Amino acid sequence: MKAIVFYEHGTLEQVQYTDIPKPEPGPDDVLLQVKAAALNRLDLWVLEGWPGLKLKFPHIMGSDGAGIVAATGKNVRDFQVGDRVAVNPTLSCGHCHFCLTGRDNMCDHFAILGEHVDGFFAEYAVVPARNLLPLPDHVSFAEAAAASLVYVTAWHSLITRGQLRAGESVLIVGAGGGVNTAAIQIARLAGASPIYVVGSTDEKLARARELGADVTINRHKEDWGKAVYKLTNRQGVDVVVDNVGAASYFSSLRSLKRGGRLLTVGNTSGPRFEFDNRLIFGKHLSIIGTTMGPIADYKEVMGMVFNGRLQPIIDTVYPLAEGKTALKRLAEGNVYGKLVLRV
Ligand code: ZN
Repeated sequence: MKAIVFYEHGTLEQVQYTDIPKPEPGPDDVLLQVKAAALNRLDLWVLEGWPGLKLKFPHIMGSDGAGIVAATGKNVRDFQVGDRVAVNPTLSCGHCHFCLTGRDNMCDHFAILGEHVDGFFAEYAVVPARNLLPLPDHVSFAEAAAASLVYVTAWHSLITRGQLRAGESVLIVGAGGGVNTAAIQIARLAGASPIYVVGSTDEKLARARELGADVTINRHKEDWGKAVYKLTNRQGVDVVVDNVGAASYFSSLRSLKRGGRLLTVGNTSGPRFEFDNRLIFGKHLSIIGTTMGPIADYKEVMGMVFNGRLQPIIDTVYPLAEGKTALKRLAEGNVYGKLVLRV
């Protein structure tokens, strides 16, 4: 089958579009005929690698996929050949303390499809049946793939852990990425107000306003930390969504109201930085970190996608053969929403 793989960690130079054997599903798995896959920044980090990440090569890239069940393992009862499905990208054991208490994204054997095991940039993928969600006919494979990882991540962060409530003010640092576009929509849906968004270009900010941002700030034109302070009558906001990290944390913490929460699921500008601890205890702040989301959150947020209350933002759809071009665009960063591969 055709697939986008790499045989060793490194740069985009290592990425190949090639032929590899079709995988075999285990007893609890299905073989998925992939119809669409979506890119995430995670793909680039996995390609680069990190100490402790041990992959079997060639590694098939891609954490987001949707498609049609092509074969089922002998224990699979809930799905049949021909079913259209979306896939929750978080792998969990189903037996550990965390799984049994509904926190399967904290599983002892936590893994992500496309990160620790093979992913979706291929004609076929092996997926545990418990990760599948039936996909209604009116939702495209591209939308399902584009939504899965970023919506479950943003929903778990803002709603389940962040406890975002109607009427609370929110600041989202970053306008264009998949998680941020999802976060703007989810904040809107939750009734948060006002929603402030900091971004790098007027064009991205105009689109953020279309998605539900009330006030946008171009970080190249003004000091956004000061701008938020002024806009909130020196009070700050209830919640900051910051997945930028090193470059933004100081301003994010300063932008919070007393008792405010900083929500984080990642750090696109780097993971290590210093901050003044007096900001944390002196202002009674909480920093709430999460990664991915449990199955219940995946089902809940995808239900919102299926009924149209949340709409995944797709920048461009490329054929699978042009996966490397799509990865290059993601690395360059000039993307609004998701890049999708059509398989
Ligand atoms: Zn578990």
